[in-house]
Amino acid sequence: MTPQLTPTFPSRLPKVGTTVFTVMSALANEHEAINLGQGFPDFPCDRQLIAYVNDAMLANCNQYPPMIGIAELRNGISKKIQTLYGHQYDPDAEITITAGGTQGIMTAVLSCVSPGDEVIIIEPAYDSYRPSIDLAGGKTIAVSLQVVRDEAGHVASYEIPWDELTKAINPKTRLIIINTPHNPTGMVWNRSDLERLAVLVRNTSALILSDEVYEHMVYDGVKHHSVASHPELAARSFLISSFGKTYHVTGWKVGYVAAPPALTNEFRKVHQFNVFTVNTPMQYGLAAYLVDPTHYLSLPAFYQAKRDFFRDGLSATRFKLLPTPGTYFQCVDYSSLAIPQAKLNEADFCKWLTAKIGVAAIPVSAFYEQPTESGVIRFCFAKQEQTLTNALQRLLNI
Ligand code: GLN
Repeated sequence: MTPQLTPTFPSRLPKVGTTVFTVMSALANEHEAINLGQGFPDFPCDRQLIAYVNDAMLANCNQYPPMIGIAELRNGISKKIQTLYGHQYDPDAEITITAGGTQGIMTAVLSCVSPGDEVIIIEPAYDSYRPSIDLAGGKTIAVSLQVVRDEAGHVASYEIPWDELTKAINPKTRLIIINTPHNPTGMVWNRSDLERLAVLVRNTSALILSDEVYEHMVYDGVKHHSVASHPELAARSFLISSFGKTYHVTGWKVGYVAAPPALTNEFRKVHQFNVFTVNTPMQYGLAAYLVDPTHYLSLPAFYQAKRDFFRDGLSATRFKLLPTPGTYFQCVDYSSLAIPQAKLNEADFCKWLTAKIGVAAIPVSAFYEQPTESGVIRFCFAKQEQTLTNALQRLLNI
């Protein structure tokens, strides 16, 4: 018998496997399916952005940048937030460049959650929240978005569970994680939701982590309401955003965290040992590109056209469409399909859809810890029209 050379040790994340996004992308590749699962654009970014990064590399901007990110980029972000949401973050004391939104989330959680602290999340929730809390030794308190159903029992929309949220907050609550526009449902918070949250946390010591990586993807004239637009919330919030989503470069992994000095101080203590810095030429490229606001101001119209195109096509199928006021995700209820597979659970339905129909999607159940089946799956429409057309053709065959 070969001796076991690798010692065993208890897993820090015993319940965690590979993320559903990676699993579904691998399955899509295996079956040569059209990948509407993992959220990423299949079209190129602006060549101007690449040129700016290239210029930075050729100009020898290839050594460590400052730990908190280059000043040009932090200044640009501060200006953008000021213009859009009316809050002035000090670029030196309140803005940190991160290796994408997910690192910002993990680092924020590690910087403020101590063992035994409670962290409230609202499910369905992005899959990195819970493991981040686990690694910090915190206790996750999950409340669920209320599922509103139509007369036929199909999911019609989602609402913030205010009563549950109110009950969940107590002196042990260290952090509340919110996400607007919301992945996977596309739901967006409005002004009165922010007001209500502010009232809930007033006189508590709860901090807020607001995941706003889809901030520029809101449709039908709806506005994105950032915690930065609410001074009382901004004073206790980590605001997370991502250039990958906004500029069609998810693989570059650059994002940022804006937070008041006391939060930023603690954030940077962890950040400097977590990634230390984020790659230099990308930061210069993004800083140059950020100067022109049309690059993000044009995003709602750009993605709304894709959303409408995809929804139009889907309306000829038996999928029931959920509203999509924000994000680049379209959720559909498949329980109305007149096929035996309509009875499958969401994960199995997505596997079947990928392997047999040739279109990959993400089960919304993957965003819940406890098994929760609502017959809803998520498609990503950040794709070229031809990709969406090809996917729709396949979906029409069901
Ligand atoms: N945020 C992306 C999504 O929801 C995926 C990110 C990832 O793959 N980790 O699809």
